[in-house]
Amino acid sequence: MTDLLKNKVALVTGAAKGIGASCALYLAKAGASVIVADIDDGGEQVAKHITSEGGNALFQHLDVSSEASWQKLAEWIMEHFNGLDILVNNAGIALIKPLEATSLEEWQQLTRVNVDGTFLGMKHCLPALRAQRTESGPSASVINLSSAAGIVGVPGAVGYSMSKAAVRHMTKSAAMEFAEMGYNIRVNSVHPGLIETPMADDIYKVWAESAAFGTNDLEETRAIMRDMHPLKRHGLPEDIAKGVVFLASEDSSYMTGSELVIDGGYVAR
Ligand code: NAD
Repeated sequence: MTDLLKNKVALVTGAAKGIGASCALYLAKAGASVIVADIDDGGEQVAKHITSEGGNALFQHLDVSSEASWQKLAEWIMEHFNGLDILVNNAGIALIKPLEATSLEEWQQLTRVNVDGTFLGMKHCLPALRAQRTESGPSASVINLSSAAGIVGVPGAVGYSMSKAAVRHMTKSAAMEFAEMGYNIRVNSVHPGLIETPMADDIYKVWAESAAFGTNDLEETRAIMRDMHPLKRHGLPEDIAKGVVFLASEDSSYMTGSELVIDGGYVAR
């Protein structure tokens, strides 16, 4: 435990597993009180684990694609904490399918969760992020999970990369708008390469089934994808969580509207 984020309140969406669960743990280890939010009530176990490690965490049910769900959570945050310092819009879904096989419903579901979810999070948490904040005091930090796929195109992931590019761009516009308004709220995006999570497991399975890389073998598919990242190792949730802690803290106080790429060199090719 450190006191880098002491007395800070953080909300992480999609924190029941994967990158979100790791972000919640690392933010708590840095001293923040963490709200673990997810549509999956398995997030309760993540909050319990963090508490057992000596951190402060509470679970709250949240469907990021539902405005009513966000309104309820935002009210709860004001009642319990009277404000919010760190918002990590991490919840997301992926779809690996060629454009011609993607249905409008699938496209719209990606938009609802990945794009609307991030917009609604920033919109409805804004009053809590602004509460008790002064122009010259510590900043609030919003961290939006985009992807390497939000920077470069990915064949077979047109809808997903569209949604992550939208997150990347709304981050920059919100950052500039909040700066102009004098809100003292920084907004940055994080761009992971392929990271070992349940989402990545599902993606590997789809690629292996379709022999996207010339093989139906799951382990071979994983190895090929690993080696497409120049550092040639699998990215881990904690690789992302450490970057999120940096963006959450005053160590990054001069960063807003920027992109933190954590991808083993994938987009540098
Ligand atoms: P994951 O599927 O392992 O976990 C995602 C979490 O989000 C789950 O707990 C799920 O229940 C939750 N979630 C899904 N829909 C939700 C909703 N409507 N409301 C609330 N919670 C919801 O995914 P992950 O790999 O940990 O990815 C986390 C974020 O990072 C996502 O935004 C993803 O797009 C992004 N990302 C992941 C990778 C990767 O390789 N894993 C790469 C780049 C970007």
